Amino acid sequence: METKIVKIDPQHIDMEQIAGMGRLLAAGKLVAFPTETVYGLGANALDEGAVKRIFAAKGRPSDNPLIVHFANAADIKTVVREIPEAALRLLEQFSPGPLTIILKKQPHLNDTVTAGLDSVAVRIPANPVARALIAAAGVPVAAPSANLSGKPSPTRAAHVIADMDGRIDAIVDGGSCAVGVESTVLDMTGARPAILRPGGVTYAQIKAVLPDVQIDAHVLQSVGAAETPKSPGMKYKHYAPDAEVIVVEGDIKKVRGKIEELIKGVQQKRVGVLAMDGASYPAADLVLSAGADNRDYANRLFDALREFDRRQIDLVFAEFSGDMDYGLAVKNRLYKAAGNHIIHVREK
Ligand code: AMP
Ligand code: MG
Repeated sequence: METKIVKIDPQHIDMEQIAGMGRLLAAGKLVAFPTETVYGLGANALDEGAVKRIFAAKGRPSDNPLIVHFANAADIKTVVREIPEAALRLLEQFSPGPLTIILKKQPHLNDTVTAGLDSVAVRIPANPVARALIAAAGVPVAAPSANLSGKPSPTRAAHVIADMDGRIDAIVDGGSCAVGVESTVLDMTGARPAILRPGGVTYAQIKAVLPDVQIDAHVLQSVGAAETPKSPGMKYKHYAPDAEVIVVEGDIKKVRGKIEELIKGVQQKRVGVLAMDGASYPAADLVLSAGADNRDYANRLFDALREFDRRQIDLVFAEFSGDMDYGLAVKNRLYKAAGNHIIHVREK
């Protein structure tokens, strides 16, 4: 299959091009597009055949449901049974934006998009290219991240091209993604709202609207095959580059001392470090900057993981410090990328 690549300037959206891409989606084709979180791989959520092709193109396990995207919050009522008052308050605060909420689904919605669950995940992205495209399609758009299953999520069109060229119908190149990690997934079907995946909207932001919100225990755990997490996506390997990743976590000065020591012990491997600003690792083969804070880190993480692979790095040490706010999303992605290979540097 030849993949058509279309460049769209988010500041001056070419509506004719968008209309063409919208027609492809409505007709059951697969179109990757930028959102403020990561690039999504879109299909008409109401077309079960098209949704199945998403799973095939990504190599995604069929029991991992997709998020359904809308141009406007009012449109989610076409797929959910009811919108609780608490969900309305959240939508008012954070929509459009990097928040996904899980609600009971309407019976007409196909089982492929929800992986047979009685609930559906819905989101209204803020990225203007995404909103214009979904509006042009005129249908809800199912979209997981536009990477091969297990790989780091794409935050630039080049990442999507690397994974998906020849496997999907079109890619809308709208530049790089502002947030850089996926949306926060909030389950609103239980007695208490629960964060199943930390992301672009922080725990503190949600807590200000819903004081009883909790963080699901699986967020920072590896999930054993025997357990059944609430969010099926939690049980799969994720975000992993080809390089081995080891997270070194704790007070930043001690983290740096520990990584220097670890690098000295490595033989015959090309070593990379993902480091916050101000670090210096002369013994490493490649040091990539994670920026000045965890917001920058979220923005750069996936691009950096792919860059280590492009530069033939075998082993990556990732600095990590502080898990408040954006830190929780970064920590969750790092832990998964590292397959839970984490070194905690303790205070002495
Ligand atoms: P991705 O599409 O890769 O951004 O991942 C979407 C995440 O949302 C995965 O972890 C899914 O398991 C989760 N998800 C989607 N729909 C549901 C649902 N109905 N119930 C629980 N988790 C869901
Ligand atoms: Mg994904």
